[in-house]
Amino acid sequence: MDMHMMYDQLGISRAVYEYGETVLRDLKERFEAIDQVAEYNQAKVLAAMQSNRVNATHFAATTGYGYNDDGRDNLERVYADVFHTEAALVRPQITCGTHALAVALSANLLPGDELMSPVGAPYDTLEEVIGIRESKCSLKEYGVTYAQADLKADGSFDYDAIRAAINERTKLITIQRSKGYATRPSFSVTQIGELIAFCKSVKPDVKVMVDNCYGEFVETIEPSDVGADMVVGSLIKNPGGGLAPIGGYICGTKECVDRCAFRLSAPGLGQEVGANLGLMPALYQGLFLSPTVVSGALKGAIFAANIYEKLGYACVPNATESRHDIIQAVTLGSREAMVAFCKGIQAAAPVDSYVTPEPWAMPGYDSEVIMAAGAFIQGSSIELSADGPIRPPYAVYFQGGLTWLHAKTGILMSLQKMVEAGLVKL
Ligand SMILES: *Cc1c(COP(=O)(O)O)cnc(C)c1O
Repeated sequence: MDMHMMYDQLGISRAVYEYGETVLRDLKERFEAIDQVAEYNQAKVLAAMQSNRVNATHFAATTGYGYNDDGRDNLERVYADVFHTEAALVRPQITCGTHALAVALSANLLPGDELMSPVGAPYDTLEEVIGIRESKCSLKEYGVTYAQADLKADGSFDYDAIRAAINERTKLITIQRSKGYATRPSFSVTQIGELIAFCKSVKPDVKVMVDNCYGEFVETIEPSDVGADMVVGSLIKNPGGGLAPIGGYICGTKECVDRCAFRLSAPGLGQEVGANLGLMPALYQGLFLSPTVVSGALKGAIFAANIYEKLGYACVPNATESRHDIIQAVTLGSREAMVAFCKGIQAAAPVDSYVTPEPWAMPGYDSEVIMAAGAFIQGSSIELSADGPIRPPYAVYFQGGLTWLHAKTGILMSLQKMVEAGLVKL
């Protein structure tokens, strides 16, 4: 079998292919460890589906109010079991991760309450939800204030600052697991558990929400296993397994999740309404595939870090660090390199492979942004994608891949484009 012949057909040269093989030879043990986590999480998801007796009736479509929607209600029990929580809200009516987080926050904070982040600034889109940047209907407009304790310079928790930031009005603490588009490290679930324990030792009745985006199934435990009252995320990232076409989830205590349901629909209605619109097969099957899909994305991230670090580019996380989410940042150092990298990711896509990504002035950003994504589900970032703002240090954020082999192809193609642009010599 001439493997390289197939890669050649995609436009990947022998030199690039062989460079990739050399790097891969040293990654066997790490890939085995990732497979172990996936195996554990696969069994966890399977057990939750079996104990909730998932059957064909749960895949039926409902419309209108969606009263007595067994498929939807059972999916929520499955999610609650996977995350080891009392309750879950998993809905196509939750439009994205930001929406899920906004529901969780606004449902559990009342006028006069304070929200506190012990891990520095939250994800960009939450700035408007909270009111750090002015927006209509922000928490700030409703009289909810916000406090923040920044991380120390080395990325660790500043416990003195956290203690000082917690006061009698502190009602909810928000912890973001993934670094998002920041350069700080992502936190392990164990670290998050230590942070939650500290916050609750300062104020026992405080509630903790974890923004779990990009973190699901990367480890064998989730933040809900270490004291979080709510874990929140998007179904077009990890837990949708690439099949969910829309949706978000909130898993947590019954007290918190009930409030989220009333906020999402209406007081009095809560979880009783919300038709599933025929999406149940994709949501169940996507969750079922998610541990494997996440493992492929992680292998891709590690492969990318090892390739690009060897070529002299700084990577966060670096080539050998342990992983707590599926995001890989590669500091490419120039506009040209960012463009070449993203062209490669785009050219390797199953969808829209023939389009060329260009930097553009995206609304809401203070510099040009480049994005590469050729996804079956629009904007899905569990599918192979890369993006970044065109400004120093010219870092590209790379994530996803529905299969490890596609992630591999995308990374090889990014390298191919870097070589063709004369930016890299192998
Ligand atoms: C993606 C993401 C969000 C927002 O999710 P959207 O689906 O893009 O609205 C929030 N927090 C983190 C850490 C994320 O990665």
